[in-house]
Amino acid sequence: MKKLQMVDLKSQYEKIKEEVNASIQEVLDTNTYINGPLVHQFQADLEKYLGVKHVIPCANGTDALQIAMMGLGLQPGDEVITADFTFAATVEVIALLQLTPVLVDVDIATMNISLEAIKKAITPKTKAIVPVHLFGRAANMDAIMEIANEHNLFVIEDNAQAIGADYISKDGSKKKVGTIGHVASTSFFPSKNLGCYGDGGAIFTNDDALAHTLRGIVNHGMYERYHHDVVGVNSRLDSIQAGVLKAKLSHLDHYNKARKEAANKYNNAFASNSNIITPSFDITADDHVFHQYVIRITNGKRDGLLAHLQSKEIPCAIYYPIPLHSQKAYKDDRYNESDFPVTNQLVNEVIALPMHTELDDEQIKFITDSVLEFV
Ligand SMILES: *Cc1c(COP(=O)(O)O)cnc(C)c1O
Repeated sequence: MKKLQMVDLKSQYEKIKEEVNASIQEVLDTNTYINGPLVHQFQADLEKYLGVKHVIPCANGTDALQIAMMGLGLQPGDEVITADFTFAATVEVIALLQLTPVLVDVDIATMNISLEAIKKAITPKTKAIVPVHLFGRAANMDAIMEIANEHNLFVIEDNAQAIGADYISKDGSKKKVGTIGHVASTSFFPSKNLGCYGDGGAIFTNDDALAHTLRGIVNHGMYERYHHDVVGVNSRLDSIQAGVLKAKLSHLDHYNKARKEAANKYNNAFASNSNIITPSFDITADDHVFHQYVIRITNGKRDGLLAHLQSKEIPCAIYYPIPLHSQKAYKDDRYNESDFPVTNQLVNEVIALPMHTELDDEQIKFITDSVLEFV
């Protein structure tokens, strides 16, 4: 059996080596390391793929979130609601900009931000909601946009984990996630669904004026060379990474399909074990692109399972082991434990199994047999 990895980027690279190498070579041959033609080509390709008017490439997904919030003109003291159960980058930039993070609980079935919790957290100071499409599953954007419109709030989609996923509206119409809120961010970190070979990120919006503002912020607040109109940052996607991404974007749908098929095989293998709760999804839809395959172990054996799998050299991980409201950096007297029953439960039950584009049946069988023999 091929050695198991949480993410197998090497096998994936072997299959697209020629395209990727040619893109990188083009950057070297043309000496266009920063803001070269490949950056613009990738940007245009991604705009077309997503069906969004503006993609603004930047240095990483954390910057993308920060720049999105700067572009919206959020001010210190403004309250920004986001999920307690996510990667820390989301709350980090809120705090960094001296906005007030308002962490709220998630739904047990989707692990995405809870609509009830959002509604409860809104105050006159609330300015924005940041839904995260966690583990690749689209958050409930119809309802989130409805709440936001009612209260005049911005919606910033953190799309670091779900690029390529569809959001399917109540009326059946489809849009790519990251194109529904006022603005969205994504990450091209190597292990993400569309990953480069270093750091990268992007901001998406359909708002022309906001796109203009964001393009200046990523480039030292310059709209005209050496005229600094606003305080900006230096956050660029370099041309080599853009070349890698341009090559990989044409494979994204195929990659997401491979992830979904692997998830379906895992789900089928676990279906008859009542101690394992699998992520439910519709195999014929694309509203979950399985950035991670995360199950819940409900009989208290999660930590034992982690050790068992590790002893068999099966990589696995806990995303996420500590609720954000309990992290030293983000603790606050404003929070009550009783407001986070789901996150507090999830941190003890979740375990992520290997998920990538190159998993084969033999590997999946070995992993699922190993889980089932223990749980
Ligand atoms: C990866 C990730 C980010 C940050 O992306 P970087 O490119 O690593 O800065 C932000 N939010 C979520 C939910 C992520 O998973």
